[in-house]
Amino acid sequence: MESGLLKDKLNCAKCREPCSLIKRKKSSNGSIWRCKKCRGEKSLRIGSWFSCSKLNLQEIILLTWHLISGTKTCDIERDLGFSSATSADWRQFVREHVLDHVELTSSKIGGVGKVVEVDESKFGKRKYHRGHYGRRSVGIWGC
Ligand SMILES: [Zn+2]
Repeated sequence: MESGLLKDKLNCAKCREPCSLIKRKKSSNGSIWRCKKCRGEKSLRIGSWFSCSKLNLQEIILLTWHLISGTKTCDIERDLGFSSATSADWRQFVREHVLDHVELTSSKIGGVGKVVEVDESKFGKRKYHRGHYGRRSVGIWGC
């Protein structure tokens, strides 16, 4: 929460009232969000990088760090003990987020009378579609 990876406040989606952070030992995250009015509960992970995984928070941070650092999949599997399926899924997830970031922060190239060459092999399908904006496709060049 201090670093902004998890929400530090949450309003209930049903009644819009603020939620409280409640310690819960049975939760894999150690705490949950609970609405002060309707007492509805939400995961600590809601709306975060960690929201769609069964891995614990430390595993996700470790795996994400290795993926963006360029650690090879075989090394992740061997040294960290993640399965090839987990490693591949997270690699794809990270890649799609990088693409989304590039799309959001890039400026237009080309213009009237200018030619922009595009390598079609760099266009791929997305699996997660989270945070995908617009219909533009952008590949990771040089991979
Ligand atoms: Zn509520």
